[in-house]
Amino acid sequence: MGTYNGPKCKICRRNRVKLYLKGSRCESAKCAIEKRNYTPGQRSVVPKKISEFGRRLREKQKLRFFYGVSERQIRIYFEKARRSKGITGDNLLSHFERRLDNVVFRLGVGTSRKESRQIVGHGHFQVNGIDVDVPSYIVKEGDLVSLKRLNDGPFVVRFDGKKGTPAWLVSDPSAKAARVAHLPRRDEIDVPVEEQLVVEFYSR
Ligand code: SF4
Repeated sequence: MGTYNGPKCKICRRNRVKLYLKGSRCESAKCAIEKRNYTPGQRSVVPKKISEFGRRLREKQKLRFFYGVSERQIRIYFEKARRSKGITGDNLLSHFERRLDNVVFRLGVGTSRKESRQIVGHGHFQVNGIDVDVPSYIVKEGDLVSLKRLNDGPFVVRFDGKKGTPAWLVSDPSAKAARVAHLPRRDEIDVPVEEQLVVEFYSR
């Protein structure tokens, strides 16, 4: 499955959940799901019954769109999660959460994960003092993620920890850097997805 370039709000409305795909608009009264919380093309607000397969597929799609990854990447993460110790669903979410573009978003630098991906791709960040411009780079415990230049335009202003940096990232706004204190635990990852259904989808 390739990249989805259609209307983003339709994805939220189809899944009946806010996936925060359009930056600041998602927090405003303009959010489409706030105004029309029913499936696109459907007049009734009563949700249709869906099959077990449909539920699993929906959760998988929500996860994919929430982090903005391709079908190929999600399969790779699932295989890694399955082979790692611990609960597969937790491992899977941990992989998504530790992507460098997501870390930058969690630090409040991008208004959406898409914007954070562009910021990383344009080479504004370093990991342990080394330039990294790969959004899918997976950070590890103890890694130091930092802005390359302290006067790097608008990003400096945003690197202020105001967005509610999760506990697994210890941010130092004055140094424009954050340390990965520990790997993210399930209760520290706010993603509106039932990951067990995603695991069941790929375990068919
Ligand atoms: Fe989803 Fe609302 Fe953001 Fe549109 S504005 S992408 S419906 S959260």
